[in-house]
Amino acid sequence: MLGAVRRWLADLFFPLECRGCGKDGQRLCRDCLFRFPIRLAECCPWCARESNLGQVCLGCIDDSPLSGLITIFDYQVGTPGAALIQDFKYQFARDLGPLWRRLFQRFFEVYPLVANFLQDSFVFIPVPLHARRLRERGFNQALVLANALVQAPGSGAPSPVVLESGFYRILPTAQQARLAKNERQANLQGAFVWQGASVPSRIMLVDDVITTGATVRAAAEALKAAGAQEVWAMGLARG
Ligand SMILES: [Zn+2]
Ligand SMILES: [Zn+2]
Repeated sequence: MLGAVRRWLADLFFPLECRGCGKDGQRLCRDCLFRFPIRLAECCPWCARESNLGQVCLGCIDDSPLSGLITIFDYQVGTPGAALIQDFKYQFARDLGPLWRRLFQRFFEVYPLVANFLQDSFVFIPVPLHARRLRERGFNQALVLANALVQAPGSGAPSPVVLESGFYRILPTAQQARLAKNERQANLQGAFVWQGASVPSRIMLVDDVITTGATVRAAAEALKAAGAQEVWAMGLARG
């Protein structure tokens, strides 16, 4: 009920128009979807050194529970991608799922290597929200993305698995965006916990925008502590 009211309000205050060209009707028109600048960030998420698929480099790997980070476009304020992410995060735009699916599809067309890589027995786990945040927002945007990702034509996932339970955010951490970079990691200490049966061996964490990487790092740490062998992350963009 609350979700329906929220969506109604969102439609009232934020009518649908293309975030690329302003044309009425949909959030991204066909032309703008076609022109959308898909780009795999091929560098280490921690030091930005060039690396294959976004793998953590040899210099950083000893200190990184995360093996790599795959993102599909660059986050730049003023671009359609950034506007769509704003819609998604702050206007409760749950309906963006099909659009993300099309963007992932384009991404896999441009980078079939990533699709091949994903075929390799990954289990997809959306970065969980704390129960209170989930109630406030009405949905977990990372779950919408994880489903869009595995359902995207060409994703390669032979039997796409998205785990929706077992991994939890137990601390109601302050909103990361309001914190300074060095405060973010401390804010996330012990925030995530694995409470499922046995933890999958290869995990692809899914989140929307990855800024400092503190969230996926803390999540990966918890999954490794629970016995995961390898944890990667995938998101829309590095912010
Ligand atoms: Zn357009
Ligand atoms: Zn590095």
